[in-house]
Amino acid sequence: MRGLPGNPCRNRMCKRSGMGIPMTETGKKDRKARDSRMKWEENVRKVVPYTPGEQPDRPGIVKLNTNENPYPPAPDVAAAIERLSTDRMRLYPAFPEQTALTEELAGYYHVGTDRIFIGVGSDDVLSMAFMTFFHGDRPILFPDITYSFYDVWAEVYGIPYETRPLDEQFRIRPADYCQPNGGVVFPNPNAPTGVLMGLDQVEEIVAANRDVVVIVDEAYIDFGGVSALPLLDRYDNLLVVQTFSKSRSMAGMRIGYAIGSPQLIRYLHDVKYSVNSYTLNYPTMELGVEAVRDTAYFTSCCDKIIQTRTRAEEELTRLGFTFPKSYGNFIFASHKRVPAREIFEHLKENDIYVRYWNKERIDNHLRITIGTDEQMEALYTALTAICG
Ligand code: PMP
Repeated sequence: MRGLPGNPCRNRMCKRSGMGIPMTETGKKDRKARDSRMKWEENVRKVVPYTPGEQPDRPGIVKLNTNENPYPPAPDVAAAIERLSTDRMRLYPAFPEQTALTEELAGYYHVGTDRIFIGVGSDDVLSMAFMTFFHGDRPILFPDITYSFYDVWAEVYGIPYETRPLDEQFRIRPADYCQPNGGVVFPNPNAPTGVLMGLDQVEEIVAANRDVVVIVDEAYIDFGGVSALPLLDRYDNLLVVQTFSKSRSMAGMRIGYAIGSPQLIRYLHDVKYSVNSYTLNYPTMELGVEAVRDTAYFTSCCDKIIQTRTRAEEELTRLGFTFPKSYGNFIFASHKRVPAREIFEHLKENDIYVRYWNKERIDNHLRITIGTDEQMEALYTALTAICG
């Protein structure tokens, strides 16, 4: 990084010229170059990026910090890897609206392919949806405690936004979203709290906002929640977003999708094709098809996680934690006595990773992903040492 601003070399030069020593021609040139060098920064889009959870990659760690699924993807996904054609890789992938994956999802949800939009993880889908639907002057609305990517997208796309506080029990108050706005987005169940809103309340928000788009981010819906998908028959302003990253164990493949009215999906495709047409690659789509087909495996994985979550509720309560009832593959817990940061550090020293945010209202909470029973036992043992 030699020569860049902030480099010790440059700083030494600055000090030297500031010591009363007359400037040489070379010194003058240096200063001129320095002054013009940073000019380009004025034209840079400056953003504070989203901070994902740590991804340590060491054997033996217990990773409960990014809500990944602890079980492998459906067995036929492995078989599909064997069938991948290297010759097929010469060609561009199919258009997103015409892929086998789009058709598989349409069949699974009993909707036309014109109601499905696929993307590189639901982050890509949500980001496209922000860019497409939140283009008005009024602020969009989302909860104060929620997925921390929403304000980042709003900032990067220059979308005005306001947050609405969750109540004391971390619940979304539907009335807060029934005032004039430029659009609404919220996860259900919410993240990182795991709190689920009933379908009637979701409908209340969608119905009160017929003049804007309401995005329901259902990243965690398969762990016991009730999806807003049935509302799609009645509301053309509703976009439901889901992902393969959690319940289908494919976070590394990056597949997300949205289901909505054909009009909404058309607008999404128009924007997507104006940015980058081919984002999902051929192997990912082939493997995604298999993950959707194996419904028995999918259901059994979700059931296992729900069972482990029930046991985790008992164990964490026994250890002195409190938490709202979670409908996600995680629990958002706070200890009655020991500060969250202390527990977080202690667990990390023991190679157990959970998620901690040093943020107002939630800085005494830990979000603990539900892992295998074995991983959870390791967690309870470590927690007993510090909280027991
Ligand atoms: N929405 C919520 C609420 C999430 O927690 C996440 C995971 N970080 C996502 C969307 C994005 O997940 P992905 O891009 O892996 O589909």
